[in-house]
Amino acid sequence: MYRNFAIVPRIIFGRGSFNQLDEILAARRTSDGGMVFILDDVFQDRELRGRVPLHEGDRLLLVNVDDEPKTSYIDALVAEIKAGDSRVPAGIIGIGGGATLDIAKAVALLLTNPGSAADYQGWDLIKRPAVYKVGIPTLSGTGAEISRTTVLTGPEKKLGINSDYTLYDQIVLDPELLAGVPTDQWFYTGMDCYIHDVESLQGTYLNEFSKAYGEKSLELCRQVFLEEHPDRDDKLMMASYFGGMSIAYSQVGACHALSYGLSFVLGIHHGIGCCIAFNQLDEFYAEGVAEFRQMMAKHDIRLPQQVTAGLSDDQMEQMVTVALGLAPLWENCLGKNWRELMPRERARRLLSRM
Ligand code: NAD
Ligand code: ZN
Repeated sequence: MYRNFAIVPRIIFGRGSFNQLDEILAARRTSDGGMVFILDDVFQDRELRGRVPLHEGDRLLLVNVDDEPKTSYIDALVAEIKAGDSRVPAGIIGIGGGATLDIAKAVALLLTNPGSAADYQGWDLIKRPAVYKVGIPTLSGTGAEISRTTVLTGPEKKLGINSDYTLYDQIVLDPELLAGVPTDQWFYTGMDCYIHDVESLQGTYLNEFSKAYGEKSLELCRQVFLEEHPDRDDKLMMASYFGGMSIAYSQVGACHALSYGLSFVLGIHHGIGCCIAFNQLDEFYAEGVAEFRQMMAKHDIRLPQQVTAGLSDDQMEQMVTVALGLAPLWENCLGKNWRELMPRERARRLLSRM
């Protein structure tokens, strides 16, 4: 059986395209609720905040992403929006990195689906269409702008709300918005994309669809991280989009599985966690890891060392359990007999090197 999946239907790309946001939203403004803009609070005192096209009845919510998004945070934001206005908003517009894009997706879903965000962590549990939603990345690499998931940490698990309703209705890809990202963060989030490509292209699930997007994304990542180009932000924005499209029809692999363990037990963020894990995975992705180290050297990136060193036996075992729980990722990486190839001891040995 082949998956019949939805994609984002409307995309605007180009430097300054953010200026057309007001026009894009105009068609969606109805007589009832206003627009709710969800903006990463890093922009609190920056020029972008003043460029948000607010009309009477609209709201601007600043969100904090020091921690990766939790289901409780989504529930609180939804309650705040409902308390401010009993009408359903005409739209939700998320502006920020992967975390903010995920928050905006989840809020739009929970405004029309009853209960807590935690009730919907899993696959296709959402039953009703979300509020109209627009995603505007200010940091590129995760592919969250085009994915059908919003990754949330709940009381019991870190798992996405995966559904066709999770997809944005519109994305605005304006490379100018990437200006001002600190180098480390730019690198870690960009490497998320590079790793998506490597894991997709070396996976057993690979097909021409994923390959077409993955190869182009990888080529763009090489231009961005190993060469000098004045339009590197444009390139990275498209690399992220294509990397996301590549894994949509295949899967990620060992690096993502192990990084979920790091993230769950140590609270390490996605991009940097993927880098810490990937740096120890020569035995799976020799060429990719060698090239990744070249990229690190070029940008003078120093990864945290020995992050798992002080952990207890229980914590190590918990990390192994989380990592090995991601069966499709291991199957993509190692094939159907992955369980024999990746016993708990081997996963633990890999994690203990990180
Ligand atoms: P992020 O959204 O967590 O942001 C990282 C930091 O960069 C934050 O401090 C943020 O305020 C700051 N920032 C963002 N844009 C900036 C700008 N233009 N200038 C200066 N600072 C800026 O980072 P991320 O790596 O983009 O996203 C990681 C999140 O994405 C995780 O929560 C992860 O679970 C999620 N994710 C989702 C998907 C998906 O498909 N939905 C895929 C991968 C990762
Ligand atoms: Zn990723």
